[in-house]
Amino acid sequence: MTSTHTPTRITPGLAGAPTEVDVVVIGLGITGAGVALDAVSRGLSVLAVDAHDLAFGTSRWSSKLVHGGLRYLAAGHVGVAHESAVERGILMEVTAPHLTHAIPTLMPFGASVPKNQAVAARAATWAGDLLRRGARTSVRTLPRPRHLSGTEALQLAPALRREGLRGGMLGWDGQLEDDARLVTTVARTAASYGAHVRTRARVLEATGTSVRLRDELTGDTHTVTARTVVNATGVWAGDLVEEVRLRPSRGTHLVLRGQTVPGLRVVVYAPIPNSFNRFVLVLPQPDGTVYVGLTDEPADGPVPDVPQPTEPEIGFLLDVVSAAFEHPIHRSDVVGAYAGLRPLLDMPGEGETADISRRHAVLTSRTGVVTIVGGKLTTYRRMAEDAVDAALAHAGLEAGPCRTQTLPLLGAADRATLAGLEQPARLVRRFGTDAGLVLENARTVTGLTDDELLAPVAEGVPATLAELVFGVTHEGAADVDDLLDRRTRVGLIPADRPLAVPAAERALTLAAARQL
Ligand SMILES: Cc1cc2nc3c(=O)[nH]c(=O)nc-3n(C[C@H](O)[C@H](O)[C@H](O)COP(=O)(O)OP(=O)(O)OC[C@H]3O[C@@H](n4cnc5c(N)ncnc54)[C@H](O)[C@@H]3O)c2cc1C
Repeated sequence: MTSTHTPTRITPGLAGAPTEVDVVVIGLGITGAGVALDAVSRGLSVLAVDAHDLAFGTSRWSSKLVHGGLRYLAAGHVGVAHESAVERGILMEVTAPHLTHAIPTLMPFGASVPKNQAVAARAATWAGDLLRRGARTSVRTLPRPRHLSGTEALQLAPALRREGLRGGMLGWDGQLEDDARLVTTVARTAASYGAHVRTRARVLEATGTSVRLRDELTGDTHTVTARTVVNATGVWAGDLVEEVRLRPSRGTHLVLRGQTVPGLRVVVYAPIPNSFNRFVLVLPQPDGTVYVGLTDEPADGPVPDVPQPTEPEIGFLLDVVSAAFEHPIHRSDVVGAYAGLRPLLDMPGEGETADISRRHAVLTSRTGVVTIVGGKLTTYRRMAEDAVDAALAHAGLEAGPCRTQTLPLLGAADRATLAGLEQPARLVRRFGTDAGLVLENARTVTGLTDDELLAPVAEGVPATLAELVFGVTHEGAADVDDLLDRRTRVGLIPADRPLAVPAAERALTLAAARQL
């Protein structure tokens, strides 16, 4: 068992990467980043790779919620719901208070919601609070639910349809600052403990004790031997391990400008007509945009690198939301749309699929590759723990106990400390106590003034040059796409993206000049 406790930054390509480690982790979505952190913090040496970039796959196409698991409770899966609620509490109170916050949720009781549905919604919201209590999450983190009058509901969501509105049920859940930011922070934390984290490194073949990799920058192939190999490639898991068969389903979200749903301060559960307990969520985001999601459509055939929403899905979401709001939302209001794929497991020999988007599965292949698939962003820590436990047991490898329940991610601090930081709010929301490091790093690397480093990169585009520079120097961003589509999410609004390209190019040039 070996371990290096020197900070290793995230870098593209395989130059200088180790050829022998305890654990190779394939895939740097939330699951692989979590496995890398779990393994390295137990004292194991780790090489974690992604064919493209951090958060290139499903992990950046989520609803960005830290779920309490109510949906699973409604389906009778009490254990899964409890696990979700526990992991939500760990993220919000211990490991990542900086990247998460409480967000109110509202089920409006409009004319289309019959009395029995309103009664069920009330019961469900209170059941959600029971989950919170069962997970020992404080009411200071997630307040208790309550019934709202029509007037109170309109204060939180002024654009709701007024006719027949007789109030609603207010609950609370967790929201992420951004899903890709969580992945980046987990990966950076793993690197800070000594994990070798490499992007642009594709695994071509894997066994339980070795991987053959291609450096996507040079085209060179490398072989790395390991005591154990963990496959965390999400919907691509079956490409590397033939026993794993997945049938993805697509979930689509729309992106709206804030002014399309003015004054929205709460997640609205818009009921899907003729369905008792299915909803479309209208989700206000910390950057002022609003997401609307999500759909559930079979996505058979080859798995694309970047799934695309379809026009019928966009139309469906617009119809449901327009029915819940005073003014219809039009196709022209949609400034962006994205889709992600859920992995559904094809059960071998049983001719059916299992919804492992509900719970994760750990599968060990004939050659000993441990695949971890399914689950959700919220439960990544527990998934990683289970995967590493299984990998250690299979390899007969000794390591310390799992430490991640109490291991804060880089930048984490309690909410009072975060509130007292003097750096700009956007940097604190995205980097926590590392906000000062982000700014200091940008000053040193660029020699520019704080005004230049902290100004929005373009009108209406809140990303800053300081965070773009940090993306290059500390987070392994190698090109404009990494910076605009994953380290920041400017690319979610295609019209904004070209406005930010000059700043991204400038960050890459300034950081490269510094390294010369
Ligand atoms: C529409 C939608 C909404 C969701 N909303 C939420 C939510 O609000 N909250 C929540 O908790 N969960 C949510 N989830 C679930 C959550 O997003 C996923 O469970 C999670 O992101 C899956 O992460 P992953 O790391 O397993 O896979 P991925 O993020 O897909 O990562 C797999 C990685 O493997 C890499 N890779 C693939 N092949 C190779 C190879 N050969 N070599 C090297 N690298 C490779 C890919 O580039 C990719 O980066 C949502 C899921 C969907 C589909």
